[in-house]
Amino acid sequence: MTIRKCLICRKLFTPHRHVKHQQTCSDPECQRERRRRWQQAKRKADKTYAARQRKHTDAWLTAASTKACKPTA
Ligand SMILES: [Zn+2]
Repeated sequence: MTIRKCLICRKLFTPHRHVKHQQTCSDPECQRERRRRWQQAKRKADKTYAARQRKHTDAWLTAASTKACKPTA
């Protein structure tokens, strides 16, 4: 059995048999952080992805602020 050290919390864990090159443990916090790091790397490497993400966020912010500013009366 292989034992690895989690990249994020540094705890030792046993990787899932079906997940190759697993570098983080199954802790939800570590999973979240792993995803965050992956997205950060992806954004840095892929300009199209970054632009698309930004567009998404802008659209969401615009929609949210429009809704918030709408007079109720
Ligand atoms: Zn961990």
